[in-house]
Amino acid sequence: MITDNLPRRSTRQVRIGNVWVGSDHPVVVQSMTNTDTVDALGTANQIYDLWRAGSEMVRITVNSPEAAAQVARIRDMLAARDCFVPIVGDFHFNGDRLLRDYPDCAEALAKYRINPGNVGKGSKKDEKFAYMIEKAVEYDKPVRIGVNWGSLDQALAVRLMDENAKLAKPLSADAVMREALIRSALDSAAQAVSWGLSPDKIILSCKVSHVQDLISVYRNLAGRCDYPLHLGLTEAGMGSKGIVASSAALAVLMQEGIGDTIRISLTPEPGGDRTKEVIVAQELLQTMGLRSFTPLVTACPGCGRTTSTVFQELAQGIQTFLREQMPIWRLQYPGVEDLKVAVMGCVVNGPGESKLADIGISLPGTGEVPVCPVYVDGQKTVTLKGEHVAKEFLAIVEDYVLTRYSEGGAKRRAADAINKTIPIKQV
Ligand code: SF4
Repeated sequence: MITDNLPRRSTRQVRIGNVWVGSDHPVVVQSMTNTDTVDALGTANQIYDLWRAGSEMVRITVNSPEAAAQVARIRDMLAARDCFVPIVGDFHFNGDRLLRDYPDCAEALAKYRINPGNVGKGSKKDEKFAYMIEKAVEYDKPVRIGVNWGSLDQALAVRLMDENAKLAKPLSADAVMREALIRSALDSAAQAVSWGLSPDKIILSCKVSHVQDLISVYRNLAGRCDYPLHLGLTEAGMGSKGIVASSAALAVLMQEGIGDTIRISLTPEPGGDRTKEVIVAQELLQTMGLRSFTPLVTACPGCGRTTSTVFQELAQGIQTFLREQMPIWRLQYPGVEDLKVAVMGCVVNGPGESKLADIGISLPGTGEVPVCPVYVDGQKTVTLKGEHVAKEFLAIVEDYVLTRYSEGGAKRRAADAINKTIPIKQV
């Protein structure tokens, strides 16, 4: 049953296409499409959008012969747009047949996700699971053994419940269910290894939908294996609820060194943007100081001293602008993801916070002189006013990026850093 082993980060590493997961590699952001995979163009477009937003792996549903028949085509459509993001196939129930009947699909995918609870029943289960592992070995693909609370192996759960009932001090039903999740993942991994899959081709996940359950399950799982772990709160929900619940659970685990790849399973608003889950994952990692993806805007919350929406609009406009530039800036201006921009609402904290950022602007609060001092590297450089403050400030940000993060700018930055560390000789 559940033990109190100390959690630790995985020591193994797994290569998935052009991405490494586990060991000392940075935590990888992944996402999943919600298009019908049969719609190859629609799926390729969404994968492309998710990748442009920063998803480093994208999972797609492979649930039917018609879907499996499109997978290689989707990969080729993306390659034609210079997008080589690893595509992961999500298999349930009929994965063995699809991998058998569609070798192009088996080859095109960078990883197979197999849910041991949805492979089959009784002796058929082992047979089908073994066949999928055989295919993974044949095509040299890694596998995520992804257990899910909602589709837990019922035979295993019943067996553990029976064993628990015979104990002098039985555990709670929830504790037994958590153990069943972990055991399903670990036993399935052991089976896969016994059938010839290298332990360096295995990633595990045990997803549940409640924060405390997820933390408990992953702490335990991390203490009982050295496989890289994929983290995610399943069915996290919509909007702020989904974001808060996912962040609360994943932050605790990552702070303890648990988790090598993450997905934020947000339910999009009707017609909403699927890339939101990627942005939330990136912002979670960046605000925790684990990775940098996009320059972040520090903005005050506003209060009674801000009577117009100018400052909210400016903060939002800058953040959107920075995010939209990143696909190109990432290549042209290495290090730009660490840029810090501040947009502040009044003189109370505005100048102080702006000076701490690389570039900051302090807008006028109610009753203040309608001018906006701009600070660059801690120094006040210009004061903006009038109707075009937003446009002019964006131009200053862009110019700063160009001069500081272009090749020449990077050299100047390195020289500045060295100068700062060389002690000044007393004469
Ligand atoms: S900086 Fe000014 S406007 Fe912003 S929250 Fe503080 S007091 Fe309010």
